[in-house]
Amino acid sequence: MNTKVSVIEDLHLDKKYIHEAAEIIKSGGVVAFPTETVYGLGADALNEEAVKKIFIAKGRPQDNPLIIHVCDKDVSLLVNDIPTVARKMMENFWPGPLTIILNKKDIIPSVTSAGLCTIGIRMPANDIALKLIELSGKPIAAPSANISGRPSPTDIERCVQDLNGKVDYILGGEKSNVGVESTIVDCTIDPPCILRPGGITLEMLREIDDKIYIDPAIMTTPSENLKPKAPGMKYRHYAPKAKVTIVEGNLQKTIEKINEIVQNYIEKDLRVGIIATEETKELYKAGEIISLGSRKELYAVAKNLFETLRAFDDLNVDVILSESFEEEGVGIAIMNRLRKAAGFDIIKV
Ligand code: AMP
Ligand code: MG
Repeated sequence: MNTKVSVIEDLHLDKKYIHEAAEIIKSGGVVAFPTETVYGLGADALNEEAVKKIFIAKGRPQDNPLIIHVCDKDVSLLVNDIPTVARKMMENFWPGPLTIILNKKDIIPSVTSAGLCTIGIRMPANDIALKLIELSGKPIAAPSANISGRPSPTDIERCVQDLNGKVDYILGGEKSNVGVESTIVDCTIDPPCILRPGGITLEMLREIDDKIYIDPAIMTTPSENLKPKAPGMKYRHYAPKAKVTIVEGNLQKTIEKINEIVQNYIEKDLRVGIIATEETKELYKAGEIISLGSRKELYAVAKNLFETLRAFDDLNVDVILSESFEEEGVGIAIMNRLRKAAGFDIIKV
């Protein structure tokens, strides 16, 4: 397949590219586009054949539902029973990195919701994404624009790397601002439950309903008796090619432990990557070191996380050792992605 790639530098001057991409959505094609969380791979959410193409391009398991992206807070055409708490969330956090799960209407084909009677909906805070949805006149179903299992792309180069030749159009804009996927909150139950942590934090959601909680299954090792409610959570995710291990605990001990392990790997002739921070990067003695940013700026750390995992692939490291982060605010999302990238291979110090 021939993939057209266009970069939007100025929303007004380059609008013709968004028009082109919108025509592709209308005619049942697939388009990668920027959002504030990560780049998305979109198709007309109401067109079964178009949605199937997303699953094929990504190699995505069919039982992993998609999120529908809208450009308007009125979602009454798509879902039933919108509770007051969901309306308040839309008022407070849309456009933004919050996906709300509600009971779907029949107009949404079951391929989009992967056979579930619920659907996740969000309004992205990105002008190119909003214009694309508006011009296509369709709700756009879009998972992240990566090959299934890989770290999500946060810029156009990474989209091209994964999807060139597999999709109709790649629309580029600026680097994704949030850097991790949206928070997903299930509002079909009371109190609502967070199925995936993201840029809208538990603390922010509790301003709306102080009983909102995080599904306990998502931070622990997948086990037989704790089944996560978000189907996607059971799959290996966000993983670079190298094996990832996280060292969790006291920071000083973490640095000592990582230095010790790195030494062992180097003696075995393995190439090692270290996920460090501004505060610690000088303290490692060997290995390829990438800083995610300052520990005082967790939003910047989140923004750099997936790009760093992919950068280690470019460096051809065999193993990656990562520091851990405080599980507060967006730190919960960072640790969720890191642990999944590591397949829950964690050393406690
Ligand atoms: P991504 O493909 O990276 O955008 O991830 C979409 C995530 O949303 C996956 O983890 C899905 O399992 C989750 N998701 C989407 N729709 C639903 C739903 N109706 N119920 C539960 N989780 C959902
Ligand atoms: Mg994804």
